[in-house]
Amino acid sequence: MWRKLFKSGNNEFETTLSTLTSETGAPKEVAEKVLRECNGDLTLAKQKLQVQGQNSTMAAKGTEQVPSSSSYTDAPPPYSEVVEGAMASPMPLPPPYVSKEKDSLLGELKAVFPDHADERCCTCFDPIRPDKSEGFSGEMIWLGLKAYHSECYLKSKGPKCEHCCFSLIAFPEKGLSGKWGIYNGCKYHEECYVQYAGPRCSACFDVIRVDAENGFSGRWIDDGNKQFHEECYKKKMFVEMRAKHS
Ligand SMILES: [Zn+2]
Ligand SMILES: [Zn+2]
Ligand SMILES: [Zn+2]
Repeated sequence: MWRKLFKSGNNEFETTLSTLTSETGAPKEVAEKVLRECNGDLTLAKQKLQVQGQNSTMAAKGTEQVPSSSSYTDAPPPYSEVVEGAMASPMPLPPPYVSKEKDSLLGELKAVFPDHADERCCTCFDPIRPDKSEGFSGEMIWLGLKAYHSECYLKSKGPKCEHCCFSLIAFPEKGLSGKWGIYNGCKYHEECYVQYAGPRCSACFDVIRVDAENGFSGRWIDDGNKQFHEECYKKKMFVEMRAKHS
């Protein structure tokens, strides 16, 4: 029955349709279609048309935005260019190895020199005094009424080297000076870092670390598969650039 009522020629339908087109601004054939879908309900048809209208404006905006973004003159360069630029000269990294104070291994404990000469270490029973051949600094640690060489204390209770697993103290017989530092979040004897664990420069093959004497800041470049002293990397880039332009 409504079909009959709301067919095009019907007056009431025509009136509702013209109200709908004038109020929503929708093209007549669109409005007519929607009005038919809504069984001639003006309010419902209006809502439907408004929703459709919003969707189509959003879609139109979306398509507009794509070409307009490239027309801004102060827009940043495309992502690919940024990446290529970054690849051309990677950021130098801070020195990979940071040396630490010997005393910092003791934490809260204080190393002191004994007040009398016959103080003995409770672990090795040797008198506590400087002894280079044994690697003893002469400093001691008091702990629970017991005296330790600070080295003996660290040997039994202190942290170990990530590479050789010995304590981070001097072992003259092993060529370890007792200097230590942090590399990659782990503790190493300086000698273990330099000879085995540290990353090597792909240009000069030396380990990467601060070496002021030889002009190395310790800063380094990791280009994704090779590592370089920053200084060696710059030299390499300079040589390659000169080769390209000659
Ligand atoms: Zn001792
Ligand atoms: Zn070590
Ligand atoms: Zn180098």
